[in-house]
Amino acid sequence: MSKPAATQYPSLDGVQRILAVSSCKGGVGKSTTAINTALALSRYGLRVGVLDADIYGPSLPTLVRPEETTLYQSEEGLIQPLEALGLKLMSFGWIDPEQQRGAAILRGPMVSQVVSQLATRVAWGELDYLIIDFPPGTGDIQLTLTQQLPIDAAVIVTTPQNLSFVDVVKGIQMFDTVKVPTVAVVENMSYFQCGSCGEKQRIFGEGAREKLVQQFGFQHTFELPLDPRLSKSGDEGMPLVAELPDDPVSQIYYQIAEKAHGEINRLLQDNPGTPTLSYNVGQNCELTYPDGRIVEIPPFELRFACRCAACVSEYTGEQLVKREELDPDVYPTEILPVGQYAASVKWSDEHRSSIYPYDYLQEKFDISE
Ligand code: ADP
Repeated sequence: MSKPAATQYPSLDGVQRILAVSSCKGGVGKSTTAINTALALSRYGLRVGVLDADIYGPSLPTLVRPEETTLYQSEEGLIQPLEALGLKLMSFGWIDPEQQRGAAILRGPMVSQVVSQLATRVAWGELDYLIIDFPPGTGDIQLTLTQQLPIDAAVIVTTPQNLSFVDVVKGIQMFDTVKVPTVAVVENMSYFQCGSCGEKQRIFGEGAREKLVQQFGFQHTFELPLDPRLSKSGDEGMPLVAELPDDPVSQIYYQIAEKAHGEINRLLQDNPGTPTLSYNVGQNCELTYPDGRIVEIPPFELRFACRCAACVSEYTGEQLVKREELDPDVYPTEILPVGQYAASVKWSDEHRSSIYPYDYLQEKFDISE
């Protein structure tokens, strides 16, 4: 497994894979899918944690009921996750039951910061999977979260009535921009299965599933029925996969888990790995790939290549900072990875907002290709 090297967050170092469960809108069954998929993964013998990142409406404390909900801090200052049904768990709902009200006044950038902080301040320990139940939507909050956390893959949940094809594509594209592949699309409440004849009644009409398969060649799509037992079991703190593990509907969650797991493993194996950007005093900056390939970049050129809004006009693409305005001896004072796709650099000239996607650097500076 070629999981990229340790992240900037020690609490996530023992976490093998991070899977985001996301949806365009609230109330489509994202949390129900997240917890049942997490339970399905854990029934395959994998060690699984769930982070309920939905600060506006935390639902994990309703879906599962740990016996002990007092939070303890470890010696390193990390929060010990709660445990139930074999899963490690964390939610804003346990940190501050009043959080929901407070969240209304948090602005977007603060929300993503607070969520990232929670994700990285929990003592997750060794996990095969950390499932992050994302806040609903495909806006700035979700994009920033995807940039800040080293997420490996996403599952998008939708319903036929809410879903337009465009919404799912928007979700896939949001993750794509930061190199997070969507490994499954789940159409929830897709049909109602008649108890006597077994016929699938598509009360909300056909969803976008077929179109996704046809237009994107997207193989991993799943449909889940509208099933009152799913809401009842969720409301009672015993999700369906835990309550009725052999039920045909539980089997669909095993299929989602199995396909997502297979796809993520394939991607991690194929992935040449994330490069690292580094700087040794007095030398060139180096973009080093796990296969040993190195792209050398003079610090001045890297500084000049900054694409932030202060350096390049967002509207016209015009270069705002001129070569002659920059310190010829400028050098990085701090380099940190951003998600799996970029590095952020702080500079000796006090410039702090440089974010360099690795692809951009490779295209611009790799003369070997
Ligand atoms: P979200 O996380 O998208 O806001 P939830 O998972 O909290 O959505 O689900 C919203 C409500 O719908 C909950 O009451 C849940 O129990 C119910 N629900 C979710 N999926 C189904 C389903 N397939 N059939 C019936 N009820 C469902």
